[in-house]
Amino acid sequence: SFSDLAVMVNDCSGKMGGSVAEAAIGAGLQLVPVCLTGPGMGRSFSIQGVNVEAVDSRHREGVIDHVLKEYPYVVVVDYTLPAAVNGNAEFYCSRGLPFVMGTTGGDSEKLIEDVLQSGVYSVVAPQMGKQVVAFQAAMSIMAEQFPGAFSGYKLQVIESHQSTKVDTSGTAKAIISSFQKLGLDFDMEEIEMVRDSKRQIEEMKVPEEHLNGHAFHTYRVVSPDGMVNFEFQHNVCGRSIYAEGAVDAVLFLAKKIRERTDKKLYNMIDVLREGNMR
Ligand code: NAD
Repeated sequence: SFSDLAVMVNDCSGKMGGSVAEAAIGAGLQLVPVCLTGPGMGRSFSIQGVNVEAVDSRHREGVIDHVLKEYPYVVVVDYTLPAAVNGNAEFYCSRGLPFVMGTTGGDSEKLIEDVLQSGVYSVVAPQMGKQVVAFQAAMSIMAEQFPGAFSGYKLQVIESHQSTKVDTSGTAKAIISSFQKLGLDFDMEEIEMVRDSKRQIEEMKVPEEHLNGHAFHTYRVVSPDGMVNFEFQHNVCGRSIYAEGAVDAVLFLAKKIRERTDKKLYNMIDVLREGNMR
């Protein structure tokens, strides 16, 4: 059992962090009632009856002193901002805090180097949706096993996200690289990004209440003569898939810490391989 396990979510006053905190409480885990937030953003609030104090990250050393004293068996989840990724990871490493990094962006090579050097347990996962990661892995296995199987076919990629997402999806890029190995000629520039709400509702069939939080991807593969058509699609509404994945990653990491495994850096594929842990 994980009765002494505690989860600290930075920043649970943010959108993703808030969802993770709810999912952690929903899974019966103990939420640390303190978290780190962006400079000047400190405040108190309540998540499902738990009063949480979000403290300005400039005071992080003192906050962690307190947390480690009260909750020695803590795992941190980080859903902050791309600009904070490397600084936060360095900090967790320096304090020996095991962590799950869900925040995208930053220098990912440096992140991995820092984690390996520190010997801290961590899961790094720019895509925490377990089922999406499983699909991504399946496409990668197909590409390895059957290189060129779709050569000559044409690929069309359309992705729709909330209008605040400016960059192209990292998940789409990973899946396209598998399609390229399957023989499809495709340039990342050809990805069609839909950010216009009218098109999202009418064409992509995004429910209106999820315009500000969704990830809809369609990959269409058509034979040269147009007689054969494949369509791969994953449409995600809201944030719960990423929050649930983060809770799974926490449980996974707690298990690895308890087993004192030599391997310390993991990704979502490792979490998937472990099977269902709850
Ligand atoms: P958000 O803006 O709602 O929340 C981010 C919070 O981080 C803010 O409250 C901000 O004050 C805080 N913050 C900034 N710097 C900080 C620091 N140094 N220490 C602690 N807190 C700090 O954003 P969001 O929608 O919750 O997204 C957060 C991140 O999660 C983004 O990078 C997004 O791309 C990523 N994301 C990843 C996945 C995944 O599956 N891995 C899924 C969804 C979103």
